[in-house]
Amino acid sequence: MSESTERVVIIGGGPGGYEAALVAAQLGAAVTVVDSDGIGGSAVLTDCVPSKTLIATAELMTDLAGAAELGLSFTDHEGDDAQSLHVDLARVNARVQQLAADQSVDIGRRLDREGVKVVRGRGRLDGAGDAGGVRRVAVTGDDGDQTLEADAVLIATGAAPRTLETARPDGERILTWEQVYDLTEVPRKLIVVGSGVTGAEFASAYLALGVDVTLVSSRDRVLPGEDADAARVLEDVLTRNGMEVLSQSRMESVTRDGDEVKVALTDGRTVTGSHCILALGSVPNTGGLGLEEAGVVTDEAGFVKVDRVSRTSARGVYAAGDCTGVLMLASVAAMQGRIAMWHFLGDAVRPLDQKMVSSNVFTAPEIATVGWSQKDVDEGDMQAEVVTLPLSGNARAKMQGIHDGFVKLFCRPGTGIVVGGVVVGPRASELIHPIAIAVTESLTADQLAQVFTVYPSISGSIAEAARRLHRV
Ligand SMILES: Cc1cc2nc3c(=O)[nH]c(=O)nc-3n(C[C@H](O)[C@H](O)[C@H](O)COP(=O)(O)OP(=O)(O)OC[C@H]3O[C@@H](n4cnc5c(N)ncnc54)[C@H](O)[C@@H]3O)c2cc1C
Repeated sequence: MSESTERVVIIGGGPGGYEAALVAAQLGAAVTVVDSDGIGGSAVLTDCVPSKTLIATAELMTDLAGAAELGLSFTDHEGDDAQSLHVDLARVNARVQQLAADQSVDIGRRLDREGVKVVRGRGRLDGAGDAGGVRRVAVTGDDGDQTLEADAVLIATGAAPRTLETARPDGERILTWEQVYDLTEVPRKLIVVGSGVTGAEFASAYLALGVDVTLVSSRDRVLPGEDADAARVLEDVLTRNGMEVLSQSRMESVTRDGDEVKVALTDGRTVTGSHCILALGSVPNTGGLGLEEAGVVTDEAGFVKVDRVSRTSARGVYAAGDCTGVLMLASVAAMQGRIAMWHFLGDAVRPLDQKMVSSNVFTAPEIATVGWSQKDVDEGDMQAEVVTLPLSGNARAKMQGIHDGFVKLFCRPGTGIVVGGVVVGPRASELIHPIAIAVTESLTADQLAQVFTVYPSISGSIAEAARRLHRV
């Protein structure tokens, strides 16, 4: 590996920033990360890590809800209630916040060990850079103002929850997803506005925790961006478990009236609850970064425009993660950041291919996807054969009391190469990996089918689906 003496300054310490810092340090660059709110970024402190920690508790509740079917009851031998289960949300949220803070400390220590300098403060590009390609980053920080010089700058400033004038969070009852961890009592009636991934995850988690949940969705169904069959299974499960899903219902305003929140819909109806979570999407943190003066082009929504190796329109300025709006996932932010550094520091680099990205919706059941989708096939963008195998026929699923979910595989008609897949079920996030390997490595359905799976296992359904795609 060639050593470098390049100076890299990274603005933003989330996965886009810190993963890039680790790669740049490994390649020998002198790296400084400027971060305003804590290493790990929103991913670790307010979004991904806290929500998945909350969902871990919700998952356990979902498992326990199925206990009776597997022969367990929460009674003593006389049949009296031995223990009734109740959610202590103050403890749950204290654990969530502690885990997130610890994770941030862990990442900070790792950066320190690798020789990355961390500066606490707000950074912005200072002008267009000089003729020799040196860029300047102005930092306003706890220890006063300073200017850092860099041979390359990575912008990884992330995004923030979108709010509306007519639906202003108050941090108590009208909440963004960043504010839910301050709750100390389980909401009496929760209204979740927005049925994208974030809205669906919170609605599903609180439902599992025993909360009365109404999900307000402006579309025909939940998760409009996901596989329609998968979304249908999820919506069935959620409504069967008591959630009210208001489809084609657009929120007009959210107001607070004492201990109540009122969500007014554009069709004149009003939904009343004790709390409301707003899941209205994200806006990029790209204001006040000096982008225009530095020659960095953004789109109409303010996202930084990048190519597949994370280059912006300005020489020596890269961008990664949510501020680019490419695919708003921690895994993608991290890969964009690494790609930027591999590219700048002359290491081998494979441009980002969104069709290789596995993603998961952490609802109960989970929905994991990779590669080309059913929509791509239906719209003729990809010619593929499709097999869908319900999990209800899987022996392990029967043993575990899993009734909902499926495995879906897409392969090219001529070559049999696997080009995509969907898994719906518990721990689908873990099950998508073999399909992701097949998609990334262009394996055929036959090759996937020939790999031994454990019997009995849910992953056996992946091999079985691949077998069904065999053509003679
Ligand atoms: C509720 C929720 C759950 C999610 N769950 C998942 C999941 O399970 N899996 C997944 O892959 N993705 C998940 N995501 C998406 C994931 O959190 C984001 O894609 C990820 O945080 C993007 O990383 P980033 O580095 O671009 O930005 P961030 O993580 O937002 O980090 C950016 C950092 O830059 C700092 N910053 C901003 N401006 C400046 C400045 N001028 N100077 C210095 N610092 C600055 C910010 O304070 C922040 O610390 C979730 C998102 C949400 C909202």
